[in-house]
Parts: sequence; structure tokens; C-alpha cells
Amino acid sequence: EQARRSEAMDRGDTSELRRSSRQAYLKKRKEKKMGELQCEIDDNEFLFSGVRLTDAEERELKHKKEIYDLIVQGCRADQDEGAGDYYRMPDAYDDAANVDQKSMLSVARRRHDDDDREARGAKGKAFSEQESWEEQQIRKSRLQFGSKDRGGASDEYELVFDDAVEFVKSAAAMAGTEQDHETDELTDEIDAKVTLQRELQDERKTLPVYKFKDELLKAIAEHQIIVVVGETGSGKTTQIPQYLHEAGYTANGLKIGCTQPRRVAAMSVAARVAQEMGVKLGHEVGYSIRFEDCTSEKTVVKYMTDGTLLREFLGEPDLASYGVVIVDEAHERTLTTDILLGLVKDVARFRPDLKLLISSATLNAEKFSDYFDMAPVFKIPGRRYKVDIHYTVAPEADYVDAAVATVLQLHVTQPPGDILVFLTGQEEIETVEEILRRRTRGLGSKIAELVICPIYANLPTELQAKIFEPAPPGARKVVLATNIAETSLTIDGISYVVDPGFCKVKLYSPRTGTESLLVHPISKASADQRAGRSGRTGPGKCFRLFTEYSYNNDMEDETVPEIRRSNLDSVVLSLKALGINDLVSFDFMDPPASEALLKALEDLFALGALNSRGELTKTGRRMVELPLDPMMAKAIVASERYGCSEEVLTIAAMLSAGNAVFYRPRDKALIADAARQRFNAGNVGDHIALLNVYTEWEESGHSAQWCLDHFVQSRTMRRARDVREQLEALLERVEIERRSSAGDLDAVRKAITAGFFRNTAQLRQDGSYRTVKSWRTVFVHPSSGMARVEPPARWVLYHELVETTKEYMRQVTELKPEWLLEIAPHYYQDKN
Ligand code: ADP
Ligand code: MG
Repeated sequence: EQARRSEAMDRGDTSELRRSSRQAYLKKRKEKKMGELQCEIDDNEFLFSGVRLTDAEERELKHKKEIYDLIVQGCRADQDEGAGDYYRMPDAYDDAANVDQKSMLSVARRRHDDDDREARGAKGKAFSEQESWEEQQIRKSRLQFGSKDRGGASDEYELVFDDAVEFVKSAAAMAGTEQDHETDELTDEIDAKVTLQRELQDERKTLPVYKFKDELLKAIAEHQIIVVVGETGSGKTTQIPQYLHEAGYTANGLKIGCTQPRRVAAMSVAARVAQEMGVKLGHEVGYSIRFEDCTSEKTVVKYMTDGTLLREFLGEPDLASYGVVIVDEAHERTLTTDILLGLVKDVARFRPDLKLLISSATLNAEKFSDYFDMAPVFKIPGRRYKVDIHYTVAPEADYVDAAVATVLQLHVTQPPGDILVFLTGQEEIETVEEILRRRTRGLGSKIAELVICPIYANLPTELQAKIFEPAPPGARKVVLATNIAETSLTIDGISYVVDPGFCKVKLYSPRTGTESLLVHPISKASADQRAGRSGRTGPGKCFRLFTEYSYNNDMEDETVPEIRRSNLDSVVLSLKALGINDLVSFDFMDPPASEALLKALEDLFALGALNSRGELTKTGRRMVELPLDPMMAKAIVASERYGCSEEVLTIAAMLSAGNAVFYRPRDKALIADAARQRFNAGNVGDHIALLNVYTEWEESGHSAQWCLDHFVQSRTMRRARDVREQLEALLERVEIERRSSAGDLDAVRKAITAGFFRNTAQLRQDGSYRTVKSWRTVFVHPSSGMARVEPPARWVLYHELVETTKEYMRQVTELKPEWLLEIAPHYYQDKN
């Protein structure tokens, strides 16, 4: 065995080394001789084993030894506080293949809800003391930092960061397309007095697309439709619209429209372009997203979400006010992008003057080219440095913990360069942000400052710009991002990517009509995109919190287009409103499952938006005008009948403003819960509670103090007010009178039922609920005011289902079953 090891060492065969050390480990474990393990295992195989340190870095490390200890003390303190899961290890070590799948699955289902967190604590504590001591020892022994080359010194650097994550460097790095370091000498030359404008203009010229400006403009002049492909950060989104503007494509009074799958991207890119063009945002350059239009008469370059352009189609089916439409990030294949592609392809046929650019970050452009009748593909040669890929040696049981540990490890051991961490959503980002803050707090000048920048869809605008600001000298920036940073937003200066390998995906089952948002392993294509984010300005490193085995065997090659896994109610309603009746022959790039199309037609019929011949009804036409889910739109239309449009409008606005209405500080959890429960007086449900919150807030004169006193997020409230104002204007357009039911809450609940009658559930003996139509076992979400009501409501209506540890109903309201027969007889009659 020893001979094989040294031979493998010579060959640099890491997998052989790993195999062999695992053998040694297992043997020792059997013999329970943990103490000896430390000297048995060669540090060369573990922990960033691919990273060789320079002398300077080594010196730095020595200096930081002390800091490690401090952080470790911090970890211990954490553990004493009850966060007992820091010492957790993958439970099985023996069969890598099995563990991979198991942990992928279990991780996929976990989330960070409060109840979930409790469960995690309990799990951690389930370890016996002996076991946790063992784990600790094993950790330590495996976490020797550094390489053999440094001789006997290695002991001194033993990394006692108890929850460190171990990686093995992949033999195959992602090839860089340009190896040399292209120093930005320009920046150095610039005189300090030169204005920001000059700098920005110079910066523009350094982008890869700049060299191809003339060629690109020529190609656009010659062809109506072009597919543009280029690495993220090459300047497609920010530069091409400006080139077109400069080349006179807006001189005829027509606009350039550029769609983005994400609202944050639309806003942030528009802000950047306005800055580059030296204009005020909303003037020549603007953006338009749902419930927020930041454009004016002057606007010629307009960034928007794909959903916004889809809505504009309804009012302007030939897109007459646009001279150029750029469908950006087409590779994302969101549901709306796919529908847009079909629509713009059609418009291009009868508007030969309209230029169409389909832009994509990946290189599978052929599919787009084929779809657009062999449209030419314009490739912007990328600038991508070499990226070293590191995998974990064993699957990580908890990727959030692993991500935190990796960030801290990188921060104290790696040379300057910012870190980008991919997480699945706001809650997770907030959790990681909190843990990172807690663990770096108090270290003061001992370690370099870590500037933590979260970025996700609902992040307030004023905080979004922060991710683009360089960290102050000596500090390191860590960006905690959702998928949004995969291709939509380019953040400069990232040298390290930490990728847990998960994202949230929507999954829809037409059979049961339920849509769930699940944390799911990403595809290989996504993983490679993410890794590439570290190699934009210099060689990068990507730390994958999964094993190489997982990458090769468990991950799908490509992400399934959203149209194949979505509820189609909303897009089918839009298409019907556009007069596209024959959905089966609509030119989809990837057609949706016919089952899903049928289900959408059925749903819209049940809502009264379509008649039995599949044609749009008057109700349907009104629903289309409201930029809301068809069920919510229907509730608003129905509010006319129950004389409560004011109330339903408020509820719709509150539900659209985001989930974070209440907050719950840990030290005042009970008071916060009581404050929240007060809004649910009479226990009628969350919808009415939201209405009460809004009404009281309004009576307080939109007071921020009132929000503080009642544990309500004032930011969410302000957003709700904005949304409400927009909806008020639309209400006028669909000629629904604004009326209040003056305290008749049954009327309000009936209107809501008219939209959400499909989302109903009945209490069962064991306290769980069963959905009425699809017979699923569901529970009231712990955040609901109805979760603690005694006796529990027998019939309930819910806004949505979310799947975490269980399937939960979020936003729950009590219902009288006879309402269902009164309001949706066509849907419920057959049941009795
Ligand atoms: P692509 O669309 O090809 O991925 P972009 O046009 O988005 O590339 O980005 C080009 C450059 O503009 C990048 O270097 C990026 O850092 C910079 N940039 C884009 N948006 C912003 C912003 N909001 N603030 C600062 N810089 C930005
Ligand atoms: Mg882009």
C-alpha cells in the first residue's frame, strides 16, 4: 500500500491518493485508533491540495495562525450557543457513489425556515459527545494546510478551522481562451483629474465587443435577424444598444428595446448605461419592469424584463415604437423569453424594417440560429482566463455551512481577489450573511475586512449598486448571489467562485396543477458558467461544494427550458389575448407538453377567462390587463360583484410586494408573534390580516415608527403602496368601480375565493390538510397566522404551496365550503 501511495504521489494521481487515504481512514476507524490518524494521512492530498503557496503567502499564513485560533474560538462559541451542526460530517464515507446521491437528495429538500432551523439544531445535538469528539479529530487530521514541499513546517500551519471544507483540485481545469495577463495599463495612465466620464468611456473600449463594433454594425445593417454570442462580461448588454444608438438607429424616433429575464438585471444595466452615456436614468436610457416604469418620452434605449415586453405586445402587437429589439440572455430559456422568441419571429416577418438581435452567453447558438431560419451567428471572441476547478473530497451534508466555511478559509488563506458565492435564494443569502458577520465580528484588525454584498431579486434598489463598488483597499468583497450572477450581471474583480451546485427551480405538475419551487442540483452547463465568473479579469479558482463524481454522473448536461416545467395559465391567457387561438401550431422553440397546454385551457375556462370554445371572454379581457397571476387577476375582477375592489386591491398589492411583511427579531420573537397575531383578529386568515396591516399603516400616515412598533417591514409596505397605485390606475382602465365593502369581510373573502377556488384544502383528523381537488397532504406554513389557531379551521384557501421539509400552504384563509358551490359551481358540482 505504501509503495502504491508513493508511486501515486509521484504521478500526482490524486484519485489514487484519495482512494488510498480513504482505505487508511476506514482501517483506522475500525480499529478506533483515531489519535494515530493524524500522522498517517498525508497533508498533500487534502484541502486545496492544488494550491501552491508563494513564499510571501507562506509568511502571511504564519502571521495568520493566531487568527485561525481566534476564529476557531468563535466557532466554539457558536457551538455553545447551540448551533450544534458545525461538526457534522457526511454520515457515510464508505461508498462515495451512494453518498453522493443521498446527500444531493436530502440537501435538495432543505430550506431555512424557522422550523427547519430547529430541526437542524436537533440533528446536530443527536451526536453523542464521543462521536462529536471523533468527528473533530477526524476533521483536524484531514485539515492540514499546505503541501509537503514546505518540509517540516506544515505542522505549524495546521488549519484548525473545525468546519473547513476539503477540496481536491480537478485534473482538468477549464481552459482559458487567453492566458496572458493583460494588465490594464490604461487605468494607471489616467490622470486623477480626468472625469468619471472619460474613465467610463475608456473602460468601454476595453470590453471585448469594442473591437468588433464596426463589424457588428455592418452585420446588423445587412441582416434583419442576428444571433450574438459572447462570454459574460464581453459587453453585449451594455454596449450593443449604445452602438446602435450612436449609429443612428434611434434617429427615426424609434426605440431600442432590450429584454432581460430578471428585474434586477434590467434596473442595474440601465443605471450603468445611463451613467456611461452621461444621462439621467429615465431620460434617454430607462427601464421598465412590472409595477415600475422608469422611462419617459425621451427614452430611446429601454431595458425591460421579458414579461414587460410581452405585456407591451398586448397594446402594440407590431411593436411599432421599436426599431430594434434585443432578446438578451436568450440561453436562459425562461418561459417568457421562449414565448417572446415566437412572437418577435412572427413580427419580424411583416416588419422588415425591425432589427432583431438574439443574444446568448453560451455557445450553443446553433439552436437559436436554426429557429430563426438560419440567422447568422455573430461570435464575440471571449476573454476568459484559466479557471482551476476544485471539488470537495466527499459530499457536503450541508452546503450552507460548507459555503460559509469555504469563504472564511479563502479569505484568510488566499491572495487578494473577491469571492462570489452562488446561493439559492434570499433566505439562504440572509442566513449566510448573518453567519459571516457573526464570525468575523470582533476580529477587528486581526483579519482583513470582509465586505459582504448580497444580491437577489427583491433587494432594495439602493443596495443593489453596492455589488459593483470595489472593496476598499485591503478589504475583500464577498458577493452572495442567486443565479442572477451566473450570466445576467457581470461583477468585476471576482477571483474565487464558491458553488454549492444548487439553484431554485420551478416544477409544475399539470396532473395535480401544482407548481413548486424546489432547490435542485444545477446542470453542468450552469456549473461551468458559474466557474467562468472567476476567470474574467485574471486566472480564477472555482470551489465546487460537490464531488467530481457528482459532476460527472449526477448532473444533467443542460437545464430543461422553463416552458417544459411551468404552469402556462398566464402565457396562454396572453397569447389568447393576442389573438393566437391555435396554440398547438404556435412556433415554440421547444413546445410545451400538450398536457400542460390543456391544463392551462381548463384552468382559464374554470376562471371564466375563456368560453367553452376557448375564446377570450369579457372577464378574460379584463384579467389580461392586470399584470398579475390569472387567479389574482380574477379575484380583482370578481371584487366588482362583491363590492370590495378597494380591499382586494390592497390584498393583491400586499401579496405582490413580497413575502417579507413581518420581521421577527430573535430576541423579541414572542412579542413579534403576538404583534402579528393581533392583525389576525377573529382568526379569519392571512389575507384579511394583510388587509388590516395595510389599513392601519395607512391610518398611521404611512409611519415608519408604526412599522417599527408592529414588527412590520416598512420597505415592503412602501412597495405595496406603489403596486397598489399602479393597480388603481389599471382598475380604471378595465372600468371596475372602486368600492369598499365597509367591514364586510365575507365579501372580501368571497372575491378572493372567486380567484383561488382551486387552492382549497380540508382539515383531517391528524391535523394535516388535504387539498380538495388533487388530494395532497399539506400543512399550514408556520409563518401563517392560521398555524396556531385553535380549533384549526376546517376548510381553508391558500395563496400558494411551498415545499420545504413538508408541503406548506402559505397565506391561508378560512373558508366556508358552501361558498365553493356558490362561486365555482362548474368546478365543484361534480364532487357532491
Ligand atoms: P455581457 O452582457 O456581455 O455579459 P455586460 O454588458 O453586462 O456584458 O457588461 C460589460 C461590463 O460592464 C462589465 O465589465 C461589467 O462589470 C460592467 N457593468 C455592467 N453593469 C454594471 C453596473 N451596473 N455597474 C458597474 N459596472 C457594470
Ligand atoms: Mg448580458
